[in-house]
Amino acid sequence: MTLPTQAQVVVIGGGIIGCSTAYHLARDHKADVVLLEQGKLTSGSTWHAAGLVGQLRSSASITRVLKYSVELYKNLKAETGLETGWKMTGCLRLATNQDRWTEFKRLATTAKSFGMEMHLVSPDEVKRMWPLMDVSDLVGASWLPTDGQASPSDITQSLAKGARMHGAKLVEDVRVTGFEMKGNRIVAVKTNRGDIACETVVNCAGQWARQVGALAGIDVPLQPAKHQYIVTEKIAGLSPDAPTIRDPDRRTYFKEEVGGLVMGGYEPNPIAWDTGLPGGDVPNEWEFRLFDDDFEHFEQHMVQAIARVPALETAGVKQMINGPESFTPDGNFILGSAPECANMFVGAGFNAFGIASAGGAGWVLAQWAMEGEAPLDLWVVDIRRFSGLHRDRDWVRDRTLEAYGKHYTIAFPHEEYRSGRPRIVSPLYDRLKAHRGVFGSKLGWERPNWFAPEGVAAEDVYSMGRQNWFAPVGDEHIQVREKVGIFDQSSFAKYEMTGADAGRALDWICANDVSKPAGRLTYTQLLNSRGGIEADLTVARLAEDRFYVVTGTGFRTHDLAWISDHVPEGFDVKIEDVTEAFGTLSLMGPEARAVLAAATTADVSNAAFPFGHVREIAIAGTTVRALRVTYVGELGWELHVPIDATGEVFDALMAAGQAHGIRPVGYRALESLRLEKGYRAWGSDITPNDTPFEAGLGWAVKLRKNTDFVGRRALEQINGAAQTKRFAGFTVDDPDIVLLGRETILRNGEPVGYLTSGGYGYTIGKNIGYGYVRNAGGVDDDFLGSGDYELVVAMQPVKARLHLEPLYDPRAERVKA
Ligand SMILES: Cc1cc2nc3c(=O)[nH]c(=O)nc-3n(C[C@H](O)[C@H](O)[C@H](O)COP(=O)(O)OP(=O)(O)OC[C@H]3O[C@@H](n4cnc5c(N)ncnc54)[C@H](O)[C@@H]3O)c2cc1C
Repeated sequence: MTLPTQAQVVVIGGGIIGCSTAYHLARDHKADVVLLEQGKLTSGSTWHAAGLVGQLRSSASITRVLKYSVELYKNLKAETGLETGWKMTGCLRLATNQDRWTEFKRLATTAKSFGMEMHLVSPDEVKRMWPLMDVSDLVGASWLPTDGQASPSDITQSLAKGARMHGAKLVEDVRVTGFEMKGNRIVAVKTNRGDIACETVVNCAGQWARQVGALAGIDVPLQPAKHQYIVTEKIAGLSPDAPTIRDPDRRTYFKEEVGGLVMGGYEPNPIAWDTGLPGGDVPNEWEFRLFDDDFEHFEQHMVQAIARVPALETAGVKQMINGPESFTPDGNFILGSAPECANMFVGAGFNAFGIASAGGAGWVLAQWAMEGEAPLDLWVVDIRRFSGLHRDRDWVRDRTLEAYGKHYTIAFPHEEYRSGRPRIVSPLYDRLKAHRGVFGSKLGWERPNWFAPEGVAAEDVYSMGRQNWFAPVGDEHIQVREKVGIFDQSSFAKYEMTGADAGRALDWICANDVSKPAGRLTYTQLLNSRGGIEADLTVARLAEDRFYVVTGTGFRTHDLAWISDHVPEGFDVKIEDVTEAFGTLSLMGPEARAVLAAATTADVSNAAFPFGHVREIAIAGTTVRALRVTYVGELGWELHVPIDATGEVFDALMAAGQAHGIRPVGYRALESLRLEKGYRAWGSDITPNDTPFEAGLGWAVKLRKNTDFVGRRALEQINGAAQTKRFAGFTVDDPDIVLLGRETILRNGEPVGYLTSGGYGYTIGKNIGYGYVRNAGGVDDDFLGSGDYELVVAMQPVKARLHLEPLYDPRAERVKA
């Protein structure tokens, strides 16, 4: 086929992801699409995939994406006439110990929350469904009847045909070699057969996506690693409809294939593909290629698999597949547009579930690329979850291999990664370590999660129930409620916006009114065009033309890019990321004022320094930006300190607070405190799927002002209309219950939603959960108030009480006292 010289959208890569994206661009958006493949379609990772298709993930949106894949694979043949090999065999996941069993009970509840059927079945039942299996060590299994398997190459060819039927041009044997850029925008794709002028590029180049992205200046942090499975000769007694098996305690998976078994696994010691090329590039000439069989490395899976399916001992191995696949540092794939380039979208890094994901990933990616906004909350896979840290190839490799090794390990709540740490530390790191801090990591930053008292080991001991930090965190919580504590929040992302139009730009970008005089703070959401919440942050006006924006550690790249992307054309605005310029100490608790007053000569009385204000004050000879805000529901200040002076200011506050018993406090106490106060967390409680009205944040939207802002039109349309979902709080009295989020909410015995956050409130002495109550017929106060509620926790319904007000109000408490 001759190469077109122009196209609206160029998709790079003819694997399953590229073909699905091209199909959806052409079908749903009638886009003028050209797909370029350097070899033949499927010749990268796709052709050698095993073809298991699972659907349940811990994110509701990603589960929806995977469910969409299944629907598409089921029905594609009717449209294209080409088989996909889809077989709804169901999937059995095996449990051999009680922790795994608890994990499955929680998973089954998550499935119910996300509208999927998942049951737990006994070993006898497993034996009946899969007679060749040794079930003697099983506690039981989970059964997801709508999972299945498909043929990766057939799906891809079917999608390719569908794309062509809708007008897309798919061109093989053409390699993308570079991009013609105008500033940070691609204007043409260069290939070994000529250039194509285009408006948008979608990079679906699989394990090559990193080097293709680099040609346009973007970072796609993935690591190719070797993944192996075997295909056996026919095994007598194996049903063609046998369910797929995941045996995580033995780290293996199985699938029936032409009367034999496909068996592979996720080893704890995976092998990265060391290509030997500069920068770790993947060779271009890798069409339909595999690595040599590595039986020695695979033996660990073989031993475990034979113990599970003894017939494997005598079954002949027809073929061994040792192929490369791209994995990522957190096990989630990568979608969306990177901030470095205005018009390159990425769909890559599929962590060995690209076949399962492709249908849905193509659907959402096509919409994202055409409309500039993701159609639903895709934060967990958004490329903007990464940062500059992820340009470090060694770090990405080590963390990715750790994530691969954890694929089948039991997912204990609150578990932290261990590799590549410590990476970024605040100036207080050594001091906090001396206070017996136990750290977690977020976007590379070490952050104290809790502080171990003498006699308690300063490390997390993971379990499915209450973990070893539960009581010490309770003490930290009470310290903040009753006296004063100090949090090191230096990892907060911070930006400065300056320029004559900075105020006007923020007025357009923020849902709340930020046009207050200098010295004022505004808590605000940033909305998308559907009115969904894209960010949740604090804006401090330092001067008429100067703003300081503070947001969560993990949202650094995302929020900065969102703000930058939405500054109207021609505005005089400069935005600078100043995260590393300031340490952040949050001094919180009823005695915070007394401590601060002892450490500064500034007047910090309520009259001189009211809530919602920012002032410069001096502490330990340093000028500190003090923001009077709180995320814990107590009197307090966030002190933003020039980074080099953070240690001295901390020391001064600790000395000033000695009389008040001041102590450092960690992120787990922060979480408990914010749950009691009902503060929403972006990414879980509030997401692009939720509007401020649904989230109970309508008070923070400037609809009464005559100012236009992103999302206003969508909000105006729904303002006053009946709501079909509303954010609500729940408490559970039983102290033995552990709430983690994703538990199903039952109203009068019927599922009406699920928890977005769960935890424990030490002041009120109860488990706390938040989530949206949904009802197609409307959710008003009457509907909420008239129901009897339960939460399904690990499949067990437990009595819950609904709350529409914060669970803890310090003023009310103090009046009582
Ligand atoms: C052994 C193994 C077993 C697996 N089993 C499963 C499974 O059971 N279930 C599951 O869901 N997933 C499985 N996977 C994962 C699955 O194979 C991948 O996630 C999926 O194929 C990725 O598709 P892709 O389109 O992103 O990449 P690819 O299929 O690699 O496609 C990328 C394409 O881009 C092309 N390209 C690269 N650079 C350029 C360029 N410069 N110009 C033009 N074209 C370019 C390449 O030639 C390639 O064809 C498995 C993977 C392996 C290795």
